[in-house]
Amino acid sequence: MENFKINGQEATVENLTEAGYRRYRGEEMDIYYNANICEHVGECVRGNPAVWEVGRKPWILPDNGEKLDNQRIINRCPSGALKYIK
Ligand code: SF4
Repeated sequence: MENFKINGQEATVENLTEAGYRRYRGEEMDIYYNANICEHVGECVRGNPAVWEVGRKPWILPDNGEKLDNQRIINRCPSGALKYIK
């Protein structure tokens, strides 16, 4: 999926916040997540458990992965629960 987009538009802080996404900040990039639409299939956790770790607070730490690798994994999220801003 093109998870740098939301509803066919480039994702922005504003439209992601409005759609209920929570921001997980990193030095190189932020990762956005919406728990309400997550299907819990685990592509993210399997992709890089250092970035996505269920039970940790915060459960997403963008700086534990490389930006391009994080983006590649986010694009595998089938529900669109994960987003990033290009
Ligand atoms: S890949 Fe997306 S749908 Fe699957 S568990 Fe992660 S956030 Fe949820």
